[in-house]
Amino acid sequence: MSNTPVAVVTGSNKGIGFAIVRALCKQFPGDVYLTARDTGRGQEAVAKLQEEGLRALFHQLDIDDLQSIRALRDFLKEKYGGLNVLVNNAGIAFKVKDTTPFAVQAEVTLKTNFFGTRNVCIELLPLVKPYGKVVNVSSMVINSALRGCSQELQQKFRSDTITEDELVKLMTKFVEDTKKSVHEKEGWPNTAYGVSKIGVTVLSKIQAQMLNEKRKGDHILLNSCCPGWVRTDMAGPNATKSPDEGAETPVYLALLPSDADGPHGQHLSDKTVQTW
Ligand code: NAP
Repeated sequence: MSNTPVAVVTGSNKGIGFAIVRALCKQFPGDVYLTARDTGRGQEAVAKLQEEGLRALFHQLDIDDLQSIRALRDFLKEKYGGLNVLVNNAGIAFKVKDTTPFAVQAEVTLKTNFFGTRNVCIELLPLVKPYGKVVNVSSMVINSALRGCSQELQQKFRSDTITEDELVKLMTKFVEDTKKSVHEKEGWPNTAYGVSKIGVTVLSKIQAQMLNEKRKGDHILLNSCCPGWVRTDMAGPNATKSPDEGAETPVYLALLPSDADGPHGQHLSDKTVQTW
């Protein structure tokens, strides 16, 4: 088993994830895994980095597929005995103009952004080594999405005592409510992406509390962040930040020094803790 530190970035064949891997290849003292759901796209991305003189390793990972997540888990366990850095970056967003029925958009978006990310955490968090770092990529849209929620939902999402089960039930209810066309009546905003990222942000807070309770002394730091508005296939060419600039906050959180005792359980933007 290798003692080499290891970092894993989900959804990193392009966009912000690719830029995170590029930065980690330059700054992380260990093996950096570029992961992609499509092996061909992943290997092409690794080759692109190689042309830049950077060495990333590749492992397949589709966060919608439990078998794929478990295959990565078993690989990391066997080869490294765990992992040191996990960046949950993979995500999807329907374009504003997309005419796919909202209920379908809700189901598909929540499946990847919330449930897929959560499944990666369920399988990989127990493997994160002491002094490890976990970064969940959320978005600035959580602020407007939260404002679009009923007072009752806002209170639940902002509560310090919400449990993971309660959060999962709420995310499931959102999808079900869209299918019955009652989501607005039930206090939800008209953004599946926004709700999915509220889920990721609240989940991060819950996971950080869980680490405080169950793994106190392991000094693992877990946060969510917004990369900013970034020129990628998701956000388009008019966004203000380059992918490398979008990677800055996630990379900052992934590389927090081992003597740092925070941030932990926070949501950051531009390397700064946000209230939301
Ligand atoms: P992107 O260019 O569309 O890249 C998304 C990446 O996620 C791609 O590599 C994609 O793989 C991967 N992915 C999607 N579903 C996956 C799955 N089931 N399993 C594994 N990988 C999957 O988007 P981006 O702008 O870089 O976004 C990266 C993250 O930042 C997302 O979480 C996004 O919500 C967040 N974000 C972006 C912005 C922005 O302005 N761009 C702002 C706030 C937050 P494929 O190539 O196979 O599709």
